[in-house]
Amino acid sequence: MSTLEEANHLLLETLGEEQVSREPDDRYQASMDNLRYSRLPSLRIRPADEDAVQQVLELANRHRIPVTARGAGSATTGAATPMEGGWVLDFGGWKALHIDPVARMAFAQPGVTLAELDAAAARHGLTYPVDPGSRAHATVGGTIATNAGGMRGAKYGVTRDYVLSLEGCLPGGAFVRWGANLKKFSAGYNIRDLWVGAEGTLGIVTGAVLRLIPRPEVQSTCLAVFPSTRDALRCSRQILLSGASPSALEFLDSLTVGSTFTFWKRKDPETLRKIPDCLRKWAAKSPPPAVLLIEFDGDQSTVDHALQRLLKIVSRYSADWATAIDLKTADLLWKVRKSCSQAMFELGPRKLNEDVVLPFDSQEALLDYLQHLQEETGLPTPTFGHAADGNFHTHIMYDDADPAMREAARKAVALLMNKVIELGGAISGEHGIGLAKSPFFSLQHSEAEIGVMKAIKKALDPYNVLNPGKFWESSEPWNFPRETITLPWDH
Ligand SMILES: Cc1cc2nc3c(=O)[nH]c(=O)nc-3n(C[C@H](O)[C@H](O)[C@H](O)COP(=O)(O)OP(=O)(O)OC[C@H]3O[C@@H](n4cnc5c(N)ncnc54)[C@H](O)[C@@H]3O)c2cc1C
Repeated sequence: MSTLEEANHLLLETLGEEQVSREPDDRYQASMDNLRYSRLPSLRIRPADEDAVQQVLELANRHRIPVTARGAGSATTGAATPMEGGWVLDFGGWKALHIDPVARMAFAQPGVTLAELDAAAARHGLTYPVDPGSRAHATVGGTIATNAGGMRGAKYGVTRDYVLSLEGCLPGGAFVRWGANLKKFSAGYNIRDLWVGAEGTLGIVTGAVLRLIPRPEVQSTCLAVFPSTRDALRCSRQILLSGASPSALEFLDSLTVGSTFTFWKRKDPETLRKIPDCLRKWAAKSPPPAVLLIEFDGDQSTVDHALQRLLKIVSRYSADWATAIDLKTADLLWKVRKSCSQAMFELGPRKLNEDVVLPFDSQEALLDYLQHLQEETGLPTPTFGHAADGNFHTHIMYDDADPAMREAARKAVALLMNKVIELGGAISGEHGIGLAKSPFFSLQHSEAEIGVMKAIKKALDPYNVLNPGKFWESSEPWNFPRETITLPWDH
């Protein structure tokens, strides 16, 4: 019997078939995330409690079996793909949640989704403001492990800003708690922050204490349409210069808006009929416009005042805009942003989905470079993003059935990442590294920096059992076969 088979056998004996599955369907479901690159694990484990997690890890460490934790599998980078097989620890069912409205804290198990967390907070007049596009699915555990951001990062920051303490297990199974159920904690090394964004490579999160904030009373949204991508970016800069604090400042370039029009015309004419006139009237024009979506929240008078000031700035750069103070109209304004990711497939059947971050004075340089990149490689690069964070989702669209296009995509992403680093930026602002950004990890970090990370990994996970094959192990994402499967967020 091989070591893996022996360990599988022991685990099945210990936890039983209720927690441990070797069914092909269960293993396939646990074999990938939204990158849709599948590597089958040997077992899919749904642990009943912390004791079970400890038993799994103790056994895995003893037999050197890779263990990859899993939330909803919505990561876009392959972070949740069990690259070296082994066992997947699925926390999707861990849903315990308690809100303390006085301390303004949530005590959450890792499988609680961000939408569930925010809905529970809302019952106490509070909110958990981290708002990725995947909030209906993405879990507390997964968002902590990727340090997820989202559309309201402009004002509220990212996951790390809300994690007060973490508890969980080391690879050998020992239970640890980093921090406490307290607002402040200044007693020892801050390992909590090492776990945040570590993509499950340093420890397994089984519980988190998260900071909540008062829920804003009202919000207002403005959709502004610009004749060019450059005008939209300049306007976003002026908005920030004015001292305004929008809760969202989303940017969509002309190519992104154009592909969304095409998508609606082909697949969703009903939405095209419903969106505000100021955008719809551009649907037949060429080139398509760029768009900013700007949102303010707070009390009524602050929001009214902010909106008035905003419109003075917007009117200098854009002739067309619409505003909304009720949620139903705001939903229509947000449609272009909510549809654009799916709509990009109008430009090619496959995408490399990047989330680079730029210093503010380099944002225009990046967009100029993307124009050059499209001309040089022949591949479209629709881009949208969180302008107030300088965080841009640039997509390289290609056909992976065509070897020449695969090579062009490889070249395009390498050129893009080199340019981003040259401009003083970062290769990821919120999605993390996983497999998709691993080829560029050494562009971002020096040998000395990677050496420190490897030393930390060795100290916490000496046998490299937690999510191996990531970060500094370079992959070739442009060559990965993509599973044709419908995932929950595709609907
Ligand atoms: C439609 C869509 C929109 C998105 N929008 C955004 C966005 O706006 N901003 C953004 O940041 N991301 C976004 N994402 C990406 C994704 O939702 C985030 O990366 C999210 O944090 C992943 O959460 P998850 O629960 O799905 O984690 P998974 O994908 O299951 O796992 C992600 C990583 O976390 C690790 N992990 C999971 N649970 C644990 C645990 N208990 N302990 C230790 N490690 C663990 C996994 O091993 C893996 O490395 C989007 C994805 C989709 C599909």
